[in-house]
Amino acid sequence: MSRITIVGGGIVGLSVARAMLKRGHEVHVLDQGPIPNPRGASVDRHRMIRPHYGDATGYARMVAPAFAAWDRLWDDLGAAHFENTGAVAISLEPGDYADRTLASFRAAGLPHEVVEGAALARLMPHLDLPDGAFGVLAEPAGPLFADRIVAELADWLRVKGARLEENCRVARVDPARGLAWRADGSEIAADHLLVAAGAWLPGLMPEAYGEAPAYRQALLYLDPPAAYAEAWRAAPPIVTLGDHTGYSLPDRRGAGLKIGYSAHRRRARPDVEGFEADFAAESRAILAPFAPYFRQAEAYRPLRLQLGYYVLAPERRFRLEAAGQGLVVTDCDGQMFKFGPLLGERIAGLFAGEENAADVTRWAAGY
Ligand SMILES: Cc1cc2nc3c(=O)[nH]c(=O)nc-3n(C[C@H](O)[C@H](O)[C@H](O)COP(=O)(O)OP(=O)(O)OC[C@H]3O[C@@H](n4cnc5c(N)ncnc54)[C@H](O)[C@@H]3O)c2cc1C
Repeated sequence: MSRITIVGGGIVGLSVARAMLKRGHEVHVLDQGPIPNPRGASVDRHRMIRPHYGDATGYARMVAPAFAAWDRLWDDLGAAHFENTGAVAISLEPGDYADRTLASFRAAGLPHEVVEGAALARLMPHLDLPDGAFGVLAEPAGPLFADRIVAELADWLRVKGARLEENCRVARVDPARGLAWRADGSEIAADHLLVAAGAWLPGLMPEAYGEAPAYRQALLYLDPPAAYAEAWRAAPPIVTLGDHTGYSLPDRRGAGLKIGYSAHRRRARPDVEGFEADFAAESRAILAPFAPYFRQAEAYRPLRLQLGYYVLAPERRFRLEAAGQGLVVTDCDGQMFKFGPLLGERIAGLFAGEENAADVTRWAAGY
């Protein structure tokens, strides 16, 4: 049996914790907040899992194994916090994200359906789409009920004997030597150290990651007009509407309808800029790009903003940095939730010496 210290109790830290615990190791997770921490990127009502990845076919291919890993988690939790609604990327012009996804699906032989004309209007009656628009529909895909997942995963870890230390900020780490220091100066030594600190990484390891590009993103929960409430609930989530103009998650299991607009994000750090928001201005800014495509766009009623931070590198590939006894996970982008349990299992294999760091790093980078 070996010991592992994990800095960060989000989906990455908790998934590695579970995989290590299942292998019989001693697990100690620390988080600066409660576990789960509502400020972490992993806590929201829902996150999307879908195979649509534009040209990034490596990530599209990772989605089937990711589902198998989710199934193993559902077995442990005794409940499946996912609904298979399918997901649709909508193409508005040649060469956009949905169009490139279609080419990638065809080249890789991944299952999908192209929906156009009257069929697309039936699938998405709440949208007003230009002539020539088509949808790339794929399943399994849909909402993962993120807040339930991380809460139940944390409880499962506690019951199974992991040590979850809450409200304890780690001030310094030396991953290569497996060492971490709490803010009060006390040292924690272990055989392995995982740093899964999300967008707080630049503050935790300023020498190595001080320039890591952290972004703030805000998502908008809203009430649709009554005439389209059932259509939104029944329809698959939108992966992208045109070239990254927007995406949606449906109101399933009481989660609420949520939309996001990728270009709304901006460079910012959670430990510097914090969690304040201008509700009225940000709601308008998120909703405006959807207006040309929503029927009765003026009748949508903003309810609440959900803020989150992630590190997003220009190459948009997850980054694992292994050194000595430690591993740092970063560049999780707005994409890692769906791969959390699968990544956890691979990292546990790496710590066990069953896999080599170069292979796992390359796999995580989507090659
Ligand atoms: C708005 C938004 C929408 C997204 N949409 C999707 C989606 O639809 N599908 C998808 O797959 N992914 C999505 N993602 C991405 C996904 O949610 C993240 O990539 C994933 O949750 C990152 O998990 P994590 O464990 O690395 O980080 P986090 O969940 O942020 O966890 C990091 C934890 O580390 C703790 N911590 C940090 N520093 C310290 C320290 N010094 N000491 C102690 N504790 C510390 C923090 O408190 C935090 O709890 C989205 C992300 C955001 C923000």
